[in-house]
Amino acid sequence: VSHDLSPSETALMDKESIVGFATDVGGPTSHAAIMARSLEIPAVVGLETISSEVEDGDIVVIDGNNGVVIVEPDEETLNEYKTEEEKFEAVVQKLDQIKELTATTLDDHTIELSANIEFPSDIDSVLLHGAHGIGLYRTEYMYLNKTSFPTEEEQFEAYKTVAQRMGTMPVVIRTLDLGGDKFTSAIDMPKEINSFMGWRAIRFCLTRTDVFKTQLRAILRASVFGNLKVMFPLISNLTELLKAKEILEEVKQGLSHEGLAYNPHISVGAMIEVPSAAITSDLFAKEVDFFSIGSNDLIQYSLAVDRVNEKIAYLYQPTHPAIVRLIKFIVEQGHNNKIWVGMCGEMASSPTLAVLLLGMGIDELSVSAAFLPKVKKVIRSIKYSEARQYVEDCLKFRTSEEVSGYLDSKLLPVL
Ligand code: PEP
Ligand code: MG
Repeated sequence: VSHDLSPSETALMDKESIVGFATDVGGPTSHAAIMARSLEIPAVVGLETISSEVEDGDIVVIDGNNGVVIVEPDEETLNEYKTEEEKFEAVVQKLDQIKELTATTLDDHTIELSANIEFPSDIDSVLLHGAHGIGLYRTEYMYLNKTSFPTEEEQFEAYKTVAQRMGTMPVVIRTLDLGGDKFTSAIDMPKEINSFMGWRAIRFCLTRTDVFKTQLRAILRASVFGNLKVMFPLISNLTELLKAKEILEEVKQGLSHEGLAYNPHISVGAMIEVPSAAITSDLFAKEVDFFSIGSNDLIQYSLAVDRVNEKIAYLYQPTHPAIVRLIKFIVEQGHNNKIWVGMCGEMASSPTLAVLLLGMGIDELSVSAAFLPKVKKVIRSIKYSEARQYVEDCLKFRTSEEVSGYLDSKLLPVL
């Protein structure tokens, strides 16, 4: 139980010794919460005062499914939660039985279901829950808790392991997304008032091209060991994307000169997570092989709601009509230009929202591994034609509450 947990701290967590956590600050898509989902440990963030309410030695129930924390529960409550925990485990095991099946609707429309990872060791959980690929590898986690940048060899080994373990299944490697709330001790990154809108992700990489090129070399060298794709985060204008692609080509040429093997046709994608990129996604679609929508950031920037601020977490609304329209628009622009469009933000991990995305025609959803079976189950329980109708209906609503209320009413019975 603590006031805050940084991504660096959560990256050091050992699943064997930490059974759950609760914090005062944070929102549902802050990286501590995302990390808890990867580790498959219960967590509740944004409780405001929990760190001052718990004493050493207290018994605490952490109900991550419902966002509830109970300090010093009575015997009856404790027993109820023990039964609840057993039921939850049984549901998880039952759901994992569909891991070999595809995410196919009742009227035979199939989408790709992939998982997000932070470390190569997350692949056990990815395979256990039946993902058919990795839609987001957050490579920056390798850079946290380090006093120097990871070497090309170190990165190559990590990417090669992931490529080999996934075999022919696709693996989208996102280039370094440092900054925002993810910091390394390898360099002195300046403290910024608006760090999420500051020197982060591709902006950092296009300034520190030495660091960027080292990573691209490692990714390209590992690309011959599996089905790797490369994706650039936080692209906000076309010039950045073209510059990143130019550097990728330069790195390829360097490898060719040295006689080192790589996949010259590696797919290149852009994350669509900044409103300017979303609005001009028709232009971006002509320059890449795929889009992956980063809803975590796209929502925070579009709605002006800091994703890690618990005070305004109620305003962080994936079903806001602006978000529904924007995502539908991005998918259409991708398809008009014949590229596939996925989503790797946390929105895709919600079964009801996954149906909305399905209805918009999304091609791939990349989710927290533990949520994958639930998302697959809901997709297998409905018709694509129904999902498309839900989108049509949702586009008529005026508020986030109307959209989410409608989706719940249609989908909670099948969950
Ligand atoms: C996103 O913004 O939706 C995303 C997937 O990237 P991250 O959560 O790492 O910012
Ligand atoms: Mg992001």
